[in-house]
Amino acid sequence: MSHLYDSRRYLTDFDTRRAPNIMTDVLVIGGGVAGLRAAIEAAQYGEVIVLVKSQMHESNTAWAQGGIAAALSENDSCEAHAEDTLRVGCDLGDPEAVRVLVQEGPACVEELSRWGARLDRSGGDLATGREGGHSAARVVHAGGDATGLELVDTLLRVAGQNERIRIFEQCFAIDLITQDSVCLGAITFHPKYGHQLIWAQGVVLATGGCGQLYRETTNAPSCTADGQAMAYRAGAVLADMEMVQFHPTTLYVAGAARALISEAVRGEGAYLVTRDGRRFMQDIHSQAELAPRDVVSRAIRAENIRCGTTCVYLDVRHLDGERFRRRFPRISELCLKFGIDIRRDLIPVRPSAHYMIGGVKTELHGRTNVDRLWACGEVACAAVHGANRLASNSLLEGLVFGLRVARDLGQRLVSAPAPESALHLQNRVERSERTELDIPDVRNSLRSMMWRNVGIERNADRLEEALEIVEFWGRYVMDKVFDDCYGWETQNLLTVARLIIRAANHRHESRGVHYRSDHPETDPQNWNRHVHMRKTADGRLQVD
Ligand SMILES: Cc1cc2nc3c(=O)[nH]c(=O)nc-3n(C[C@H](O)[C@H](O)[C@H](O)COP(=O)(O)OP(=O)(O)OC[C@H]3O[C@@H](n4cnc5c(N)ncnc54)[C@H](O)[C@@H]3O)c2cc1C
Repeated sequence: MSHLYDSRRYLTDFDTRRAPNIMTDVLVIGGGVAGLRAAIEAAQYGEVIVLVKSQMHESNTAWAQGGIAAALSENDSCEAHAEDTLRVGCDLGDPEAVRVLVQEGPACVEELSRWGARLDRSGGDLATGREGGHSAARVVHAGGDATGLELVDTLLRVAGQNERIRIFEQCFAIDLITQDSVCLGAITFHPKYGHQLIWAQGVVLATGGCGQLYRETTNAPSCTADGQAMAYRAGAVLADMEMVQFHPTTLYVAGAARALISEAVRGEGAYLVTRDGRRFMQDIHSQAELAPRDVVSRAIRAENIRCGTTCVYLDVRHLDGERFRRRFPRISELCLKFGIDIRRDLIPVRPSAHYMIGGVKTELHGRTNVDRLWACGEVACAAVHGANRLASNSLLEGLVFGLRVARDLGQRLVSAPAPESALHLQNRVERSERTELDIPDVRNSLRSMMWRNVGIERNADRLEEALEIVEFWGRYVMDKVFDDCYGWETQNLLTVARLIIRAANHRHESRGVHYRSDHPETDPQNWNRHVHMRKTADGRLQVD
């Protein structure tokens, strides 16, 4: 059935003769690790504009704690890192993409050091932590648990020194402009300048994830699925949208925003216990607390259902308190803020939506199926994570693929510059007379519904109910023309929620982060393959 979700091409009206037009060589949408790394490299080839929808430090990158995984020590190897990544990815990762990630990763981390990133050291060497699913201690970090902040500051400093890079903050990309399946730029909105059209010879989508789809999430407020949704409207193929990773340990203080308690805390020896202090992971997995995240998240959920509780606890009381505070200053401070003294008290935790494994399908250079559109970082699916992301592999992915994308794009600019045409495009959306729904209410209800029906555990009945609800909201929300970011974000969230639900219902097996209680086994015979989605020319959603 055709649906407004699939037939709507642009969310807003525009006319290229009326709106201000800005020209650049490269447009990077997103200023997290992937976007900034891409921008720095792309500046070698031409003028670059980077769009950030709020402030520079509001991104998942800035919030990252644990670190960056890379095989840097003599006791480790790229082969071992690749093996861990593929094993945790449950046979869905692409070995070639993983090889690229682990082999090119160490040079990217060394480059950060050369650029002045203050990575933590032990003696003269980089200090490395151990996290779940890794067979070696290979996670480098900064400021103890403030890796993301140091990463953003370093990349921002390097970008800031380059006159060819301009960063537009508070500039919201509403849609990609395409003609004949070629990406030409984006329509944007800025509170001061209104609608603008930014034209570029190459566009890099680096808008991050979609954690704001879930009531419980570790993600920054900016993660509202804008990139996945605008790529879908522009005709891009999306892959593995059912693969949403839940992080097992988010601080659970009723009424307070959820905050991540990094996996590195368990890497340092923290136990997961019930209220009465009983460890439960040892009975479930040979790696106990350091089992892959999907296993730990499901174990916590099962424990809570069994005991009728809302959370379990991290116990760090047996660890050296002083050393813990030095290693995890931000986490210690956060706990203290809520009256939790880590030397005496248990830390209440529960799982939350954390990372979007699926996204805009890319090949090894970050190219999408839309000409002159590249994607990297969390918005993309380069198939490095398979069905489950190994801890600390995503900052690495942003660095490695941000760089690859820009190099590929640069070559393309040199070899085939876009024709300079004064294009006249306009779009006018039909207004509808349908009843107005309360948009904040839709958004809150969507987040609760996604958590309940499309969360850690799924089944056909709940997914079908979820689809019915989202399609109902779609009829009232997708035919509206909003003039604010909140409205466009809500349309994007609904669009991507529907894609996740359809993909989750399509995959009739359990694998990695995708657990179906009605298909609890992995089915390698039928499902060692990706789920791809795109809209067809006649405005339908095609899933295969
Ligand atoms: C709390 C937390 C801790 C984490 N810890 C780690 C860790 O230790 N190690 C690790 O490897 N990974 C970690 N992750 C995951 C990792 O941080 C992210 O996957 C990664 O930073 C994503 O980078 P990105 O550049 O793709 O997106 P982001 O860093 O999220 O950046 C997205 C950018 O896109 C912009 N944007 C979005 N939509 C629009 C729009 N419509 N218009 C204009 N701009 C837009 C945003 O403003 C932002 O600048 C963590 C994640 C969280 C939430």
